[in-house]
Amino acid sequence: MASIDLKEVMMTIKEIYEYAEKIGVLTFSTIYNDEVHSRVAHFNGYDEEGIYFRTMINKPYARQLMKTCKVTVCGCTDTSILGHEEDGTPIFPPSFSIRLIGEIKQVSEDTIIEKAKTNKMLDTAVQDMEKYPAMKQGNFVMYKAKGEIFDVDFHKVNRDHKLLRTRFEFGGEKFNEAGPRITDKCIECGLCYKACTFDAIKKGSPYEVIPNKCDDCGSCIIACPVDAIEESLTF
Ligand code: SF4
Ligand code: SF4
Repeated sequence: MASIDLKEVMMTIKEIYEYAEKIGVLTFSTIYNDEVHSRVAHFNGYDEEGIYFRTMINKPYARQLMKTCKVTVCGCTDTSILGHEEDGTPIFPPSFSIRLIGEIKQVSEDTIIEKAKTNKMLDTAVQDMEKYPAMKQGNFVMYKAKGEIFDVDFHKVNRDHKLLRTRFEFGGEKFNEAGPRITDKCIECGLCYKACTFDAIKKGSPYEVIPNKCDDCGSCIIACPVDAIEESLTF
C-alpha cells in the first residue's frame, strides 16, 4: 500500500474552509457562565481575513459569542460504525474530522455587502440580511485560529498507517505539535515502539514520536521502563 507523504504542510485558509465544507454542518461551542454551550451551524465563506459564519443576533448563542469572542468548531465526515471486530472493537470507515479553536469578531452589515461584491460566497449572507433583520448584526469572522485535520483509516484500507494529523494556524495563532516527547533519558529498549499500534514511533537515539501519526493515546508512556517520555503539550 502507498504511504502518504507526512512532511509538514502549512494549510491555507482556503484549504481549511474546503475541508470544513466537505463536512457541512459543524458543532460550534463557546464557554459562558462556566458552562460549555454548543450549536450546529456552518461556515459561509472565507477571505484573507478569516472564515465567516452567521446567526440571528437575538439568539442566546450570538450573545454568548459576543461576550466571549472565542469559539471551538468541530465535525466529522462519517460517524457511522460499520460493525465490530471479534474482540468488540468498532469498525469505522475511513473518514476525517476537523477542529478549530479560534477568536471571532462581528462583521458589520456594510462590510458584508461590500465584500459580497467580489466574493460570491457571501451572497447568501446578503440575501439573509434582506430577509431577516436579525441577521444584519449576526455575521462573524473567525480571524485567528489553530486547528487540525484528523484523518483516520483505522483498518488501513487506503494506506499503511492508521492516522494522519495535519495541524494548521492562521491570524497569528500558534499550535503545538501532537504527541508525547521522548527525552534523553531514553535507553533505546524499544518497548514504546512495540506498544504503539499507530506506527508513530521512530527508532533512533533517542527514539522519537512522529507527531502527525500519533493518536496521543499514551501507551508508550505507560510502556517506558525509565520514565523517559513526557506528556504532550496542550494543543
Ligand atoms: S501516544 Fe500512542 S500513538 Fe502516540 S506514540 Fe505513544 S503509543 Fe503511539
Ligand atoms: S520505552 Fe522509553 S527507554 Fe525504551 S525506547 Fe521507548 S522511550 Fe526509550
